[in-house]
This record gives sequence, structure tokens and C-alpha cells, in this order.
Amino acid sequence: MKQSEAAQSEAAESEAGQPVVAIIGAGIAGLAAAFFLRDEPVRVVVLEGSPQLGGKLSVAEVAGYRVDVGAEALLARRPEGTGLIRAAGLDGDLVSPGTTAARIWSRGAMRRLPARQFMGVPADTGELGQTGLLSPEGLARASREPELRPTHRDGDVSVAGYVAARFGQEIVDRLVDPLLGGVYAGRSEELSFEATLPGLAQASRTHASLAGAAASLLPPPPPSPPPGSPPPPARPAVFTTLRGGLGALPPALAAASGADVRTGAMVRELVRGPRGWRLTIGSAHAPGHLEADAVILALPGRPASRLLGGVPGAAAALGEISYASMAIVTLAYPDAAFPQLPDGSGYLVPAVDGRPVKAVTFSSVKWPHLRDRAAGLLFVRCSVGRIGEEAILQRDDGELAALAAADLAAATGVRGAPADALVTRWGGALPQYTVGHLDRVARIQASLAAQPGLAACGAAYAGVGIPACIGTARAAVDQVLAGLRAGSTRVRSTAAVRAPGSSTPGPSTPVRSTPVPSTPVPSTPGQDGE
Ligand SMILES: Cc1cc2nc3c(=O)[nH]c(=O)nc-3n(C[C@H](O)[C@H](O)[C@H](O)COP(=O)(O)OP(=O)(O)OC[C@H]3O[C@@H](n4cnc5c(N)ncnc54)[C@H](O)[C@@H]3O)c2cc1C
Repeated sequence: MKQSEAAQSEAAESEAGQPVVAIIGAGIAGLAAAFFLRDEPVRVVVLEGSPQLGGKLSVAEVAGYRVDVGAEALLARRPEGTGLIRAAGLDGDLVSPGTTAARIWSRGAMRRLPARQFMGVPADTGELGQTGLLSPEGLARASREPELRPTHRDGDVSVAGYVAARFGQEIVDRLVDPLLGGVYAGRSEELSFEATLPGLAQASRTHASLAGAAASLLPPPPPSPPPGSPPPPARPAVFTTLRGGLGALPPALAAASGADVRTGAMVRELVRGPRGWRLTIGSAHAPGHLEADAVILALPGRPASRLLGGVPGAAAALGEISYASMAIVTLAYPDAAFPQLPDGSGYLVPAVDGRPVKAVTFSSVKWPHLRDRAAGLLFVRCSVGRIGEEAILQRDDGELAALAAADLAAATGVRGAPADALVTRWGGALPQYTVGHLDRVARIQASLAAQPGLAACGAAYAGVGIPACIGTARAAVDQVLAGLRAGSTRVRSTAAVRAPGSSTPGPSTPVRSTPVPSTPVPSTPGQDGE
């Protein structure tokens, strides 16, 4: 046995009394899983292949300030994300947006989104006319929706197929596709109605009109206040973030988890071993091994598929999930470059308009804490690349930054070059929940459930947003703990096993936040992490 091999095997076996849970991948899902295991009588080893923690959560320096260059906002109405942040002791760092009013740059002008819409599906077709989003013909077609007979659907269908059958194609092109593109970097002709809009798909079964179904998911419109009465209390913010950026969450979680978190630890092979599972880690010429009682795969579809060669059902279904690549171009402008400061959080661009940038976030407007920190500078995130648009990402960083800046100038009138620009490339950024996704996930779960001590979590399954990823981490942890309890007397309940006053197994590897790759892109106004 080589030295490194022996060292890693020994590390895992040294506490023979405690089951070892290996978590592969230190994105938000893997780190959340490690955190959820912190009080359990298990030894947790997190193996991250890249040099840094966090996966798609990452901060980098632009114009001397650290800003998010991956995910930048968290849906606050789902409890998983804010709950985890609070449990990790970061509640004091949660901040609210100054505005979430996004626009659509469509048909040559900046248009406001209808107030009453659900992911672009209008709840009130009357309101559409005031936005200028649709042509007169498109508006007339959409307005007939409430009178149409119910549209039958047999099994899963594409978002575009169903919504266009109800409202006409223009609503898809000008509203739904840009909003979905903001979340998935995908195309509504391919995305699954059941998987990407589960709430609406469900409501549409009990409403004859899709506008009615959308309305049933929205809070009632506020009553008009009597003249002279004080303004109604503001509704709670839909999004939140951390003062130091969402990229500050991964290192905090890793430290709070008490797990043994290793970066630069690429897992190359996963096979059955004497203890349950045997992992091969690191380079082919100097591999290390880890014996684990249970394994949680917190990986995108393809790397998970590659490791699951011994579980062919799951491997095949995971391999079917395609991913969109994208880039975030973060631009820092002096305030004076803008003819007038933007008053919304950003804008989305319909794919049919053929522009290079698909979404823009005015970060310093959306997040007042950023504005306070970097007065006089306006940070803008431009998001480039949808599924099938990989060619644009072939350009070098300078070209991509110039392209984004020129597109922004055409939309906003911003003058001159940015003071700084950073391009962050996200290859395999977002899984595409195409038609049949729910069946695919059911096949993966069934296949994994037949393998004791194996579970999976992350963006490939039940939502790409951060809270959804954390939700799958919780479920994966519950699954492996139930398996360990059923198969072994070593894991009972936390209370029964932990010595009074004892804490979690201590980390054997210091955790540090490593530098981020050199390229920024914006999180989109439409990113709601459904
Ligand atoms: C640019 C961008 C902006 C986004 N904005 C938002 C937003 O504002 N709000 C929101 O809610 N969501 C947003 N999302 C989506 C969300 O960030 C992701 O879906 C989520 O972070 C994915 O987390 P994960 O843990 O599943 O996977 P990942 O973050 O992909 O983590 C997986 C980890 O596994 C590692 N890995 C891969 N193979 C191996 C291996 N063999 N061995 C060891 N390690 C391995 C990878 O290096 C990676 O660190 C955004 C996504 C992108 C790309």
C-alpha cells in the first residue's frame, strides 16, 4: 500500500467504533448534509474534488470588493435556506433586497412585469395590456385564455407546449421563457411543466383556466386603502442574502459541521467494500482510499453517474440529465457612467430577441448593503449562456466582458468602459429538468434505495434553488441514518450514544476558504429557486 493510501485508510478506520459517512461534493448540498450530521454519532468525511468549497456558491474580488460570482440570492419563503443559515449562526448577516422589481427588455423597450403572474403565467390577462410586452395580436390571443375549454394533457408535457396552448406562443416567448431561463438557463420547449412548475401543474388540474390556476397560487391583491390612510405594511421580502455574499456560507457551514472536510479530494471510484463502501480518491498514480459505512453523493448528474457504475439504474438515469453552461460577467461602473441610476433589480431578455446577455442584475440597487460598502460604484451582473448557446462561451474573457458591456449599454445607455470586469465560467451550471424529469428522479431514487448506505442530494433532483438543494440534503441524511440504524447497533439515537457534554467529532483537516476562479456572472432576477 502506498503511503498516501495507507494514511487515508487509516484515518477512516481509526475510530472503529463510529460509522463513517462519506459525503462526496462540497457544494451547498454536501455541506448542508455534513451540517445536519453534526450531532449524530458518526464520523463525517466530506470530499471535494476542486480546491475550494461551495460549488456554485462563490465570492470573488471585483474593483477591490468581494461579491458573489455564483448564486447571489436565496428564496426566503422556503424555510430550508434561512433555517440552515440561522442554525449555522449567521442570522445576523442576513440582509433584505432594496427592490426585487425586475423588468423585461423586450421588443426594443424596458417593460415592467405584470404584478399578478406566476413564473410569467399571467393571473390577470387584463393587466397584460398595460405592460406593452405583447403585440396587439399576442394580447388578443392571450386574453381569450379564460374562455377556452380545459386543455387535456396526458402525462408530462413541456412548459411551452402547455402554456402556448392556453395563451398563445407570445406569452411563452416574451414572459415565461425569459423567467424560466433565469432559473434554469433552459428552453421552455424542453422543460417539464410538472417538474419546473409543480405548484402550477397541480393547480391546473383543478382549474379550467390556467390564469385561474396562477391566481390561486398568488396572495390576494391588496385592497385599495381609503384616502388619507397610512400605507399598508410592507410584505416580507421574497429573497435574502448574506452581507458577505452567499459565498460566505460554505466555509461557515464546513466549520460549524465539525466534519473532516477535504478539498482537492476528487473521488474517482466507488465500489462495495468490507465496511460498506470503498472510495478511491485523488490521482490515478497516487490514489487514496476511504472505507465508509454510508455514502452521500452531493454531485451534479454526470459525476454522480460516473461513480455509480455499480448501480446501473441510477447511473443511466443520472446520465440522461443534461446541463446548461453559462458565464457571469461582473462589471463595476462608476455611478456617473449611468445616465440615471437604475431603479429596479435588473432585467431579463427573451431568447427570441437573440441578444448575447440573457439577464442582468443591478447588484448595488438590489442589495443596499453592497451600495453602502462601495459608495460611488455600481456592480452589475450579466448572465450569458442558455442551453444550446455554448458557442458564445467559447470567446475569451476580454471578448465576453466587452460583449456584455456593449449589450448593457444598448439596454441602459451606460457610458464608457467599466472600472473593472470579471468573467466567471460555470460549466455544467444548471441541470435541465426536461419532460419526464420526475420519472427519471423516481428511477434514480428507487435504484439507490436498493443499495444500503447510499443516498444522493443536490440540484439534479427536486429543484435547483439553494433551499431545494438543502431540502434534498436533509432527506439524504435521514435516509443514511435510517439505514445505519437498521443495519447496526452502533447508531441509535443521538441522546443514547453521545456522552454528556460531548460535541461532534472534531475536524481532522482545517477548513479554509480557497480563492475563487477568475470569472464573474450575474444571478438573474428570475432566479427563484423553485
Ligand atoms: C451562476 C449561477 C447562479 C445561480 N444563482 C442562484 C441564486 O441566486 N439562488 C439560488 O437559489 N440558486 C442559484 N443557482 C443555483 C444553485 O446555486 C445551485 O443549483 C446549487 O448551488 C447547486 O448545489 P449542489 O450542492 O447541488 O451542487 P454544486 O454546487 O455543483 O456542488 C457539487 C460539488 O461537487 C464537486 N465534485 C464534482 N465531482 C466530484 C467528485 N468526483 N469528487 C469530489 N467532488 C466532486 C464539485 O467540485 C462541486 O463543488 C445559481 C447557479 C448558477 C450556476
